Amino acid sequence: MKILEKFINYVKFDTQSEENSTTQPSTLKQKDLGNFLVNELKSMGITNAFMDNDGYVYANIPSNVGSPKSIGLIAHMDTATEVTGANVKPMIIDNYNGQDIILPNNLILSPNQYETLNKAINHTLVTTDGTTLLGGDDKAGIAIIMETIEQILTNNYPHPNIYIAFTPDEEIGEGATYFNYDYFKVDFAYTIDGAEIDTIAYENFNAASATVEITGYNIHPGDAKNKMINSSLLAMEFNNYLPSSATPANTELYEGFYHLNEISGDVSNTKMHYLIRNHDAIEFENQKQLMKSIEEFMNKKYPSKPIKVTITDSYQNMASLVLTKPESLELPKKAMKMENIEAHSTPIRGGTDGARLTYEGIICPNLGTGSYNHHGVLEYADITEMEQMVKVIIKMFEISVK
Ligand SMILES: [Zn+2]
Repeated sequence: MKILEKFINYVKFDTQSEENSTTQPSTLKQKDLGNFLVNELKSMGITNAFMDNDGYVYANIPSNVGSPKSIGLIAHMDTATEVTGANVKPMIIDNYNGQDIILPNNLILSPNQYETLNKAINHTLVTTDGTTLLGGDDKAGIAIIMETIEQILTNNYPHPNIYIAFTPDEEIGEGATYFNYDYFKVDFAYTIDGAEIDTIAYENFNAASATVEITGYNIHPGDAKNKMINSSLLAMEFNNYLPSSATPANTELYEGFYHLNEISGDVSNTKMHYLIRNHDAIEFENQKQLMKSIEEFMNKKYPSKPIKVTITDSYQNMASLVLTKPESLELPKKAMKMENIEAHSTPIRGGTDGARLTYEGIICPNLGTGSYNHHGVLEYADITEMEQMVKVIIKMFEISVK
């Protein structure tokens, strides 16, 4: 079975995850794809493949050259919560001609707007019919891993010990939560998830959230002189002390920000919620400190001490840990070069499951998949790039056992 067929099979499973669910995985339908993948692995001869109670699929392929090295490949089975992943009707385009792609519902996928299409000429692409997402995030990753394993077994290419894992619930931030670290005994691993295939991503944000609760004092506005404390006005004052340029809309690459993503309130009580993000650990600490300093300053200025700031750390930048295992970055770089792909490294302006896995002991940079425009109906997968990525991983394995 070719990678295209595999991919089409996987996207037909509705595996959308769900926030605020009480089940594990968050939607039990994710296990349908899990079972399908276990059976497919078994049909390739990997009898140890299994899915655990939490909905994680695992398998191990021992080295065929007696290598002590052990490398992991990880992809996630769920799809984003924003757009439905049910009844996906994949459209296959052979030999893409570089023109606008008009989807069955008349939405237009144009290379003028989506530049990645310009490097897809003569490639095989898969799009949606314009009514659902495609699920290339991350079924492209699953297809790449499955095709890699099949080709390695069929052709007996030299490889290290390989562990694979397909995880549920990545899109709701829980992909690493029930990961079986005792089972997955690797020197390092890769999440195969994301866009450009020339990108090796290992730098993500340090992240925290801050809740700012402000207590005011309400009284009839006609009698308010020297008495009223308007918590909404204090909220505006608080925000004014933050650097106005440090917002998501004003920053890029390695620049950090404060993101006011929620505010509600009246005269008596106002609550603000911020995301704090920075790649640099020291600047990140300074950002948190600034919020605490504003709290202190305003509580001195207003005797009722109206401000309460609570900061909670979310995740950390994996870069410093990944750099302790430089081989994890050099391997894909070398393999890409052999496949005429010039490797790039761009900072991730978010978090990844890989970052959480890294902090739990599995060094885990991310490699791309050749699937694009995630989380929307204009999603598409570049099958030709996915095939290239299979070659890259096979090469990585070969180099690793030399
Ligand atoms: Zn993903």
